[in-house]
Amino acid sequence: MKIRDVRAVQPASPGSPPDWRTSLGQILVAVDTDAGLTGYGVGGGGAAGVHVVRTVLRDLLLGRDAEPIDHLWQAMYDATLPFGRKGVAIMALSGVDLALWDLRGKAERRPVVELLGGSADRAIPVYHTAWDTIAPELAGQFRAFKLHVGTDRVEAVVRAVEQARAVIGPDCPLMVDAWMRWDVPITLAVAACLAGHRVGWIEEPLSPDDLAGYAEMRDRCPVPIAGGEHEFTVLGFKPLIEGRLHQVLQPDVCWCGGLTELVKIYRLALAAGLRVCPHRGAEVWALHALAALDPEPLAESGRPWLTWVRGQPPVRDGMIRLSGEPGFGSGIMETERG
Ligand SMILES: [Mg+2]
Repeated sequence: MKIRDVRAVQPASPGSPPDWRTSLGQILVAVDTDAGLTGYGVGGGGAAGVHVVRTVLRDLLLGRDAEPIDHLWQAMYDATLPFGRKGVAIMALSGVDLALWDLRGKAERRPVVELLGGSADRAIPVYHTAWDTIAPELAGQFRAFKLHVGTDRVEAVVRAVEQARAVIGPDCPLMVDAWMRWDVPITLAVAACLAGHRVGWIEEPLSPDDLAGYAEMRDRCPVPIAGGEHEFTVLGFKPLIEGRLHQVLQPDVCWCGGLTELVKIYRLALAAGLRVCPHRGAEVWALHALAALDPEPLAESGRPWLTWVRGQPPVRDGMIRLSGEPGFGSGIMETERG
């Protein structure tokens, strides 16, 4: 099955980020083959990611066999290494890698979860990520919640968590996401104040570059630390896992190097006894790995503006289940692929 074309576009949809200057500028990647099959994936990097796919990666892949994926992944990594390794180039590569896995599933007429040794029948609990407050109508619709707090003021964080607890009740798991806005003293102060609120994890309190700060958190913070959505490839995750700098690893499969890397990160983390909760895990791109590899799966709600990815399984009673269709089981809107 030879690769005939590699295409990429950043589809516009209501509420989606307008350009590439945010990690959430998602791109659609399509890999066409001479067998008549097209694989689809989603990567990041917006217009900059599209440029990397259309130039460097396309030139590299045209005319090559779509297998083996790990060889193609290494060739793409090597070709982008001088300007890649982390960030936009790996986000672009991620979309191509996912498209190749989609092709593998379609060629074998099996869902990706089966290629990874799992079953599409497995129901996965879903947590909902909310910004600053949790709408009362969402309570009971998800198995857990995460509060994305947009402040570094300790009292404001504690107040937001108290309000969220009042909405979801005392027993529903609740996590907090600081999106890299805090430092060690703020995080320790928040953790101390939240001792009675059963917070499951504090996510990305520090910059992903502050490994010394995360080592201090590992030793001193009573609340588990989560992170990894801004880390790339298994090489980037290795120090986090080996140093146990995060208790919960959160790779984003559309950014960290695709499914090829997510599988390696899962295996390394599980061998170290650490939990993996992929960023946006309820979107089809990561959900197959959760269903196949995760002993304790918990999927994060997907981003609502990815409306051009059709076939996303619905969340029912706080649970999500794969469709069982070949590949990722996603139906991309052909008219918007550009
Ligand atoms: Mg986060």
